[in-house]
Amino acid sequence: MSKVHNFSAGPCILPKEVFEKSAESILNFNDSGLSLIEISHRSKDFIEVMEEARKLVREILNVPDNYEVLFLQGGASLGFLTAAYNLMGKKKTGGYLITGSWAKKAAKEASFMGNSFNVASSEDKNFNYIPKGYNLGDNIDYFHVTSNNTIFGTQIKKFYNGNIPLACDMSSDIFSREINIKDFDLIYAGAQKNMGPAGTTLYICKKDILGNSSVPIPTMLDLKVHADKDSMFNTPPVFAIYSSMLNLRWLKNIGGLSYIENQNNLKSKLIYDHIDNNSLFEGTANIEDRSSMNVTFSLLEQDLNETFEKMLKDASINGLKGHRSVGGFRASIYNAMPIESVSILVDIMRELENKKG
Ligand SMILES: *Cc1c(COP(=O)(O)O)cnc(C)c1O
Repeated sequence: MSKVHNFSAGPCILPKEVFEKSAESILNFNDSGLSLIEISHRSKDFIEVMEEARKLVREILNVPDNYEVLFLQGGASLGFLTAAYNLMGKKKTGGYLITGSWAKKAAKEASFMGNSFNVASSEDKNFNYIPKGYNLGDNIDYFHVTSNNTIFGTQIKKFYNGNIPLACDMSSDIFSREINIKDFDLIYAGAQKNMGPAGTTLYICKKDILGNSSVPIPTMLDLKVHADKDSMFNTPPVFAIYSSMLNLRWLKNIGGLSYIENQNNLKSKLIYDHIDNNSLFEGTANIEDRSSMNVTFSLLEQDLNETFEKMLKDASINGLKGHRSVGGFRASIYNAMPIESVSILVDIMRELENKKG
């Protein structure tokens, strides 16, 4: 099989060794003669996987002891609702930074048991920037942000660190850069953007938010229930957790967040510098808010699209089409994307310019 360069926004590229070992586990897990997906989640072998996965999250992200690490289900889309249920206080209002479609969806869920208040929004410019200098007011119980806007290619570089509890949907840039966990009260992330296969959702939450909601919480959405049962209240998605664990092992072995952040900066700089220098392309996101995970750009002359798309196809570049709400192109360059693949993409963009000139 020839190499395909997978720039897909999610589910995402993972290291080859993670795919190989995950595949092996389906047929014969840990030389047990049994498949990972047929053993009890309460068996010693699987409990070890769950414990290692949680330990790796703690080590890699430097999670303090007063935080829980949970592997649950439902995707980030259920995280929107879970966050609101668990953080609702006496004001019955969550404040939302509206930086894209996912942020809007998150805000909508707060209305099931309270209100949402839009602290600021960048919808006026089709979400091509991160609002700054907003005022949170004093009528919200928590402040919710989306660290990286997967569709629009913007990323928060500096997080709020005031007194209001901070919740963050970190689905598309968790484990891509160093963050200070203490800035957050609740982080959640669907696995399939930068951590593993779809099917599990990581939650990292401060222990003192648990059991303090002002609204009754349905059992499966109550983070305290899951924390008390070490993420085993019900059957966990064993395969997704196992693959995520392998990927976290890989990340730790290559040097953790400081190493990967540097790599991600090199990769994104390579492509952004090229976009800024190539007369045929323009970036769609505000320069200072550009994402290091999802690079959005478009061709200035629409009639070149077909030629460019053909060149991408010939070079086995997959998943570069932009989201329909932005158009153009989106290069998702998650942790496992090698810099060599980014170079190949840049070479093609250069070749198009040379052809044209
Ligand atoms: C993909 C994505 C989601 C949705 O994740 P699901 O796991 O499919 O529910 C939410 N937020 C962000 C930032 C995303 O990139």
